Amino acid sequence: MKTYGLYIGGAWVDPAAGQSFEAVNPYTGQAWARVSEATSADVDAAVDAATAAQPGWAGTNGATRAIILNRIADVITAHAGEMAVFESSDNGKVIRETSSQMLFAARLFRFYAGYADKLYGSVIPLDNPQVFDYATREPYGVVGLITAWNSPITLLCNKLPAALAAGNTVVVKPSEHASVSTLELCKLLDKAELPPGVVNVVTGAGETGAALVTHPGIAKVSFTGSPGVGRRIAAAAGERLKPVSLELGGKSPNIVFDDADPEAAAVGALAGIFGATGQTCVAGSRLLVQRGLYDEVTTRLVERAKAIRLGDPLSPDSEMGTVANQPQFDRIMASIEGARTDGATLMTGGGRAEGEGLGEGLFIQPTIFADVRNDMAVAQTEIFGPVLSILPFDTEEEAIAIANDVPFGLAGGVWTRDITRAMRVVPQLKTGVVWVNTYRMVAAQAPFGGTKDSGFGRERGEQGILEFTTTKNVMIDWSGKISDPFAIKN
Ligand code: NAD
Repeated sequence: MKTYGLYIGGAWVDPAAGQSFEAVNPYTGQAWARVSEATSADVDAAVDAATAAQPGWAGTNGATRAIILNRIADVITAHAGEMAVFESSDNGKVIRETSSQMLFAARLFRFYAGYADKLYGSVIPLDNPQVFDYATREPYGVVGLITAWNSPITLLCNKLPAALAAGNTVVVKPSEHASVSTLELCKLLDKAELPPGVVNVVTGAGETGAALVTHPGIAKVSFTGSPGVGRRIAAAAGERLKPVSLELGGKSPNIVFDDADPEAAAVGALAGIFGATGQTCVAGSRLLVQRGLYDEVTTRLVERAKAIRLGDPLSPDSEMGTVANQPQFDRIMASIEGARTDGATLMTGGGRAEGEGLGEGLFIQPTIFADVRNDMAVAQTEIFGPVLSILPFDTEEEAIAIANDVPFGLAGGVWTRDITRAMRVVPQLKTGVVWVNTYRMVAAQAPFGGTKDSGFGRERGEQGILEFTTTKNVMIDWSGKISDPFAIKN
């Protein structure tokens, strides 16, 4: 069994209290690694290492940071296959997805490598021409990055390359349910010769994360996880007037209008909810279908859902893997039961998937409920599993009202062949991301993030790096004059 220490100051160290916990493979049910449990003493050590490394890292010029970030991208690309196996073994996601996610992580490093020497400030013309004013972008210092279990490397790399490109050093806290790929990434950072202390990783559960958030040496926190924990982090950070960005959950509407291509919409809906076993923040878990296509899209979707190949996450043939851990499995099953009790019509699935090749794995059948009302719990609560609610609607106004009538505001989909309708509907959706005639598409260049209970702040794109900078404005009076000390100067 693999054993991991904490990665602090470029070295592997044992946790101060000597505690560790098991990483369990959700497909085999077996523990396959031991991961260290960091206490606040370890968090202190990690923050100290990051603090010591920060001036040196920020003091390298952007071009040098770009070279190192590109080197990291090369190493991740070269090791993408093994990294995908680590991640799939930890969270049960199919290798098809984790393999492409590793390459996307490398893409994010390259994208922000490109930004490292282009963080331009601005020269600002003032009313007083004898004062030269300029504004620059500076790193925060040491930032804390906390991530969820569903896509550890993607979630981390939505943050890490941007934070590093801007000159910050970091302390990372991955989820206790899937820490291994993040720890393995540290070995790749070593290979890429990232200076020691620039990235530090402490593993453990919520207490470790809380110690990081409240540490006075952490200047900013960037969090991906549930709205409940997001609220606690925002409160703790607010108490300390510490900036945070929050990437939280979703209950995203995927809206199919009568004029859509029914096959494209059905496949898009399938990708939206059954891709990654529905364990994705942008899951299109509410499918809103206009009456004219309701039966056709539902029928196509049910047929396709029944044909999804569940199996060993490490097999390239598998289309859906397990859910990631037992508590998540139990939560999903309880939501399915609740939907039945509330009167939603079960079209397919609804139970544990068993059979050849599935062993003791935590598999759940692709599950579809039709005739769902938007006030049912299944339409309002984030399930984070392969459970789709289909809701009928009649008019565009009704679709928009239903789409927005949830606490969340992360993503949404619109399926239509009428560009005028798309242009009319998109601005009315209260979400941070909208896809038209596609779903769950990612790009390094495009900003990503939510509104309402889905959080605030943006990752990827230019906004992604600006989140890790703070603005400094400088006024230089070159007039040589002494002005009235009791009057405001402008
Ligand atoms: P979670 O909130 O339970 O845990 C996330 C991380 O926070 C873990 O590392 C955990 O150890 C840590 N944590 C727990 N309590 C803490 C505390 N008090 N202080 C600091 N850290 C603490 O979430 P999860 O179950 O790991 O992930 C699922 C959730 O993440 C879903 O809601 C999902 O939608 C969301 N998510 C959002 C995005 C996005 O980009 N918007 C992406 C993936 C997942």
